[in-house]
Amino acid sequence: MKPVSNHVFRPESMMMSYGYKPELSEGAIKCPIFQTSTFVFKNAEEGKAFFEIAYGIREKRVNEELGLIYSRLNNPDLEILENRLCLWDNAEECAVFESGMSAITTVLLEFLNPGDLLLYSKPIYGGTDHFINTFLPKIGINVLGFLPGLSEMEIKEILLKSGKADQLAMIYIETPANPTNTIIDIAACANVAKHFSTSDKQVLTAVDNTYMGPLWQHPLKHGADIVMYSATKYIGGHSDVIAGAVLGNSTLMKRVKTLRTFLGNMASPNTGWLLMRSLETLKVRMDQQALNAQKVAEFLISHSKVAKVYYLGCIQEGSPAFDIYKKQYTSSGAMLSFDIKGGEEEAFSFLNHLKMIQLAVSLGSTESLAEHPASMTHAGIEPSHRIEMGITDSLVRLSIGVENYNDIIWDIEQALNKIEPVITHTLPQSEYLLQMENVSQDI
Ligand SMILES: *Cc1c(COP(=O)(O)O)cnc(C)c1O
Repeated sequence: MKPVSNHVFRPESMMMSYGYKPELSEGAIKCPIFQTSTFVFKNAEEGKAFFEIAYGIREKRVNEELGLIYSRLNNPDLEILENRLCLWDNAEECAVFESGMSAITTVLLEFLNPGDLLLYSKPIYGGTDHFINTFLPKIGINVLGFLPGLSEMEIKEILLKSGKADQLAMIYIETPANPTNTIIDIAACANVAKHFSTSDKQVLTAVDNTYMGPLWQHPLKHGADIVMYSATKYIGGHSDVIAGAVLGNSTLMKRVKTLRTFLGNMASPNTGWLLMRSLETLKVRMDQQALNAQKVAEFLISHSKVAKVYYLGCIQEGSPAFDIYKKQYTSSGAMLSFDIKGGEEEAFSFLNHLKMIQLAVSLGSTESLAEHPASMTHAGIEPSHRIEMGITDSLVRLSIGVENYNDIIWDIEQALNKIEPVITHTLPQSEYLLQMENVSQDI
């Protein structure tokens, strides 16, 4: 990119070229796939200097950069991708991984020690939930969950009541929560983390931003220390790659990258190249997806077979959630869930009759997807906990893609119309009417 005085290019304008020098690759306009395991040093002195920096034996000199050594430590496809990802979150550094789970688990393993307490929001992505509740306790880490909707004071109280507040090392949140779109105040969590930090221990706030990032929510801006992504979702965006990313300041990211080097869970050059290709269209894809989701939500809210819609655009003005929504999000996103009147049978009937929308888990891709959280993505959660989180048998989750929204709505409408009208035996009509009035509340 040629330097232009006083003009700051927006991230979407930089995704085609930032950090890549064509002259280093035979003039190729696109960054090639550097499918290589190792890199040749010009001379022994250069190799020595690279290792001194890589192993932290000495600090970098002015204008000195870490040279290319070996693809587990660094590779041009990963470095350029990481530089480009930093632009969206305005982060100092980024590390990319071969999956979202490897990004998340590397963060948890690096920053938690035996005896520490991890406070995490519920519901949380199934894989993360399993790692937190099954693996972390095995290595002596205490874990404590909290439901969304709590104030800063109430979160502090939960911690104090646990008797382990002084062991708190990290607050881990996912907002909006999957699949109910409940939201959590990142700044409030960061304040709680600060409150329990001491001069020799910084309590970290880490946010899984997969659902809204990197466009519609910027956790670092609200006081979070670490942002994580399943890049499989919006960042990849084409349902053809599994990948993850972590972003934060240089001090924290140095630790994340060091553990990544020794776990060896960095992304491959091919994955890096695929994600760079995807980033070029990230904004146009996400803009279209958000617009489509808004049209779909408007349609669902007034449909007679829909009991309740869970969508950020439905949060009622004047509610505490609305204040968080306004300060934290720049869009209502492209994920929505809704309760079909009835139960699993009606939800399954809807899913089985879809003609264009595909029945699959995952999200954020170009194609629209539908799934049944209670029996699919959230099947591992104990039924009583599921109900507490609002994950009912009648709940269907949609990830809205880039298709023409008229076609998406047509498909949803024809599938809803195929549901047999067997619903009135489950709830009296008056209760449905009540629920309908509540459609735009209680997010
Ligand atoms: C998919 C997902 C993950 C896990 O990412 P993978 O790329 O599948 O490993 C983590 N968090 C959220 C919110 C997700 O949707």
